[in-house]
Amino acid sequence: MSTLYWFRRDLRLSDNPSLLAAGNEVYPVVVSGSLDGLSKVRVDSLTASWRSLNESLDGNLTLIDDVAECANRLGVTAVHCARAYEPAGISEQERVARDLESLGIKLVIGPGNYALSPGTVRKPDGTPYRVYTPFFKAWFERGWESPRPAPVGVTWASAGGRELPSGPPVRVGEAFALRTFERFAKRALHEYNEDRNRADLSGTSHLSHALAHGEVHPRTLLAQLGDSQSEVSFMKELAWREFYADVLWHNPHTVEGYYEPRFANMRYDFDESKLVAWQQGKTGFPMVDAGMRQLMTTGWMHNRVRMIVASFLVKDLHIEWQHGARWFEQHLTDFDVASNSHGWQWTAGCGTDASPYYRIFNPITQGYKFDPNGDYVRKYVPELRGISGKEVHEPWLLIDGLSPDYPAPIVDHSVERAEALARLEEIKVV
Ligand SMILES: Cc1cc2nc3c(=O)[nH]c(=O)nc-3n(C[C@H](O)[C@H](O)[C@H](O)COP(=O)(O)OP(=O)(O)OC[C@H]3O[C@@H](n4cnc5c(N)ncnc54)[C@H](O)[C@@H]3O)c2cc1C
Repeated sequence: MSTLYWFRRDLRLSDNPSLLAAGNEVYPVVVSGSLDGLSKVRVDSLTASWRSLNESLDGNLTLIDDVAECANRLGVTAVHCARAYEPAGISEQERVARDLESLGIKLVIGPGNYALSPGTVRKPDGTPYRVYTPFFKAWFERGWESPRPAPVGVTWASAGGRELPSGPPVRVGEAFALRTFERFAKRALHEYNEDRNRADLSGTSHLSHALAHGEVHPRTLLAQLGDSQSEVSFMKELAWREFYADVLWHNPHTVEGYYEPRFANMRYDFDESKLVAWQQGKTGFPMVDAGMRQLMTTGWMHNRVRMIVASFLVKDLHIEWQHGARWFEQHLTDFDVASNSHGWQWTAGCGTDASPYYRIFNPITQGYKFDPNGDYVRKYVPELRGISGKEVHEPWLLIDGLSPDYPAPIVDHSVERAEALARLEEIKVV
């Protein structure tokens, strides 16, 4: 009996239990609505992931508009997919399940792309964790299943929809993700603990696109980790992804709503010219500008720099975090709503961080610390390439002054830091 497999954010064959459950005669499809509203960089990376998956499916992956209409036309009795846990994905799978049910077709939803599904790890009293460290401990102690093999002997068939969109070659896909991990394990994993915060080094795995699109299951990575300090640090980062998915699952309003509600009452500003300067990487703070330009030119930004630019938007410009989160959503090829909203809320102080008040990143000292020779800034801010060494973090101190093409700082960090603390004080619970 043939089934239809609806690929969502599980664009892989190996370690995909939902796909294994779909049987031996499968019509693999992706849905055109997944591209709605995406920026070009995200369309290019997602469609490249689809084309890569298509090669593993002998060219049978088809683009369709409507799952129920397609399933009905093909006469299948079941559609299979992997579960989504974020609000938009949940409502999509509920709508598709209803449409299919009205046609007498079952939607069989398998587990999604987490070692432990959101909602699984709870405190002994059954309530969800609000703080990462105890979540990690409970998550680790509970453990997860071993990776599952790729399906064998499956006949893939074309569902007769549209061809996949063409696009520029982007290095993505299941095989690429596995090779990326292999390379990372050989070259950088043993130094991960020391190097992961260095923006100027390639010290992290760059697997976030693959994890966000399910080109690799985190279990596949976890199964290859030992217990060295660096391997445990890497596991802890994978656990942050699981923690934020769990927090969002329990608190669906936090896609754009405040996790700590009192922060909704804080005083914020909205100065469009400052927001645009931040978006375009023209704030006059080299580390912030390098990060924002890395995002625009590559669709990715180093984690430490994500924190620096997020802190700058909220604590130096006093602009609400949602504006930044939306900009990231448009431009990050690894966009993941849980990691993004909660990465922003953590940095803004309204999220799961236990000590939100005093975490105000100094964009200059962060530059000296995490880009000690200034190489990261010079790579992304060409106007500053003429300045050698770490001096690039404070170009205004040089005798010959700023490059004529590079803006002067749009704010005074020490003044804005004091202002942010004053505003935080107004909503502080005593
Ligand atoms: C404001 C802000 C927004 C963010 N938005 C996203 C997002 O939309 N999508 C996304 O995948 N990550 C997001 N992150 C988390 C993190 O920056 C990226 O996962 C990381 O930079 C990806 O690079 P990597 O794969 O080399 O990471 P590595 O250091 O190699 O980590 C391995 C994997 O662990 C996970 N991970 C690592 N750090 C975090 C973290 N702090 N929170 C959640 N998961 C983590 C990712 O899946 C990552 O691929 C955000 C962080 C901040 C501060």
